[in-house]
Amino acid sequence: MEIIKNYINGELVEAANGQSFDNYNPANGEVYSQIPDSTSKDIQQAVDAASDAFPAWSKTSRKERSDLMLKVADLIDANHDRLAAAESKDNGKPIKLASRVDIPRASANFRFFATAILHESTEAHQSDQDAINMTLRSPIGVVGCISPWNLPLYLFTWKIAPAIATGNTVVAKPSEITPMTAFLLSELCIEAGLPAGVLNIVHGTGPNAGQAISEHPEIKAISFTGGTETGKRIAATAAPMFKKLSLELGGKNPNIIFADCDFEEALKTSVHSSFANQGQICLCGSRIFVERSIYDKFKDAFVARVDKLVVGDPASEGSNLGAVVSKPHMEKVLGFIDLAKKEGGTILTGGNQVHLDGDLAKGYYVAPTVIEGLSHDCQTNQQEIFGPVVTITPFDSEEDVLAMANSTEYGLSATVWTSNLHKANRVSSELKAGIVWVNCWLFRDLRTPFGGVKKSGVGREGGWDVLNFFTEKKNVCIKL
Ligand code: NDP
Repeated sequence: MEIIKNYINGELVEAANGQSFDNYNPANGEVYSQIPDSTSKDIQQAVDAASDAFPAWSKTSRKERSDLMLKVADLIDANHDRLAAAESKDNGKPIKLASRVDIPRASANFRFFATAILHESTEAHQSDQDAINMTLRSPIGVVGCISPWNLPLYLFTWKIAPAIATGNTVVAKPSEITPMTAFLLSELCIEAGLPAGVLNIVHGTGPNAGQAISEHPEIKAISFTGGTETGKRIAATAAPMFKKLSLELGGKNPNIIFADCDFEEALKTSVHSSFANQGQICLCGSRIFVERSIYDKFKDAFVARVDKLVVGDPASEGSNLGAVVSKPHMEKVLGFIDLAKKEGGTILTGGNQVHLDGDLAKGYYVAPTVIEGLSHDCQTNQQEIFGPVVTITPFDSEEDVLAMANSTEYGLSATVWTSNLHKANRVSSELKAGIVWVNCWLFRDLRTPFGGVKKSGVGREGGWDVLNFFTEKKNVCIKL
């Protein structure tokens, strides 16, 4: 049994109450490690350590912070195989996805922000009244970072790296469902020589450890990625304390395919954007809209490709889909498939739990599922499922598809497939989403603003946006 520990004040420690709870391997449904069941007492210790570390850390030179973060990035790369295997085991995702996407991106996050701080500049405004304004930026203090289970180390480091790069100290909580790589990261931070208290990683449940972060008066800002309901709760707790908040929440993204698209490219990428990571990426296109003139052709080709996807052992290189993250999540996804049937949907493929043999018989596997025949405003097409389930719907005009695409409470991302640049521009500008991909999906440039509108969130991550989030601006006006 592996024992996960908190990382507080530079040391690996148990929860203050000595309690722990089970961590499951979704591939076989077995408990394989223990997670500290931290409470507000552990969060207090972490805040104390972060507060003590802040004065010195915030005054280190950019070069010093950058060098330390680059060391962490190098150590992530040096431990790539171990981290990828751990991520795949903890989350159920195929090892090839963890190897090619999750772990490389975790080191890239550290590298990107370690070097970004070496190139920043601040603004200056020369006034008419013989004065000059200079805008200074300083770290906020102790900040909180709370992340979800779908891209565990990838999203955890996406928050932590800009927070410490800008001179803040951090109290961070990964999801209780996928804590392992955050724990391994703490070991690497110790090895890299990150000063004690700069980063504190506290494990535990959302209502205990997570809620204690949002409630703590000394935590001045919170960067959160997760579900919309949790985001609402965090906002309700933190907003009256005037904490700075960045909320990256759920999505129900449209994937719009016009008849004039590159058919093969749209088809291939749509299979990927529907089912990568078992459909558990906030950017997956879960509602596919296809122009009527190519609807049948696209649908048949899409279903034929989906039928070839292999649901199997996450540790096997041959698996296209692994396990979904937990038993309750599998039941939630299967519940949505039942709802779709009740709402009049036709299952074109999938629609069931997949039972694997031998050691994997108790794992949480769901067949990639394609559903047609649903109205755009039914529950299946309005609520986030966050699993390997997509709907497919024909449309007749731009106006028609925009109305359906924009009809949900969410507005994270959208994908548009067309070879007509004018149409791409028109449709992109009318889509209510924070991110639009035209003729591609999940091309990520870490400099670009990342986030959603409506119930998909508030604020933007990435590039200068997140460096601004983790700093306070102060304008100094000097009379010349
Ligand atoms: P949750 O909202 O359930 O959890 C996210 C994090 O919040 C976890 O660490 C969780 O802890 C913690 N948490 C739970 N309750 C509280 C609380 N009261 N106070 C503070 N923290 C709390 O989301 P999931 O982990 O289920 O992730 C899936 C969701 O994340 C989907 O909706 C998905 O769309 C969204 N997401 C959004 C992204 C974006 O960029 N917009 C990217 C990736 C995912 P614990 O796990 O221990 O309960």
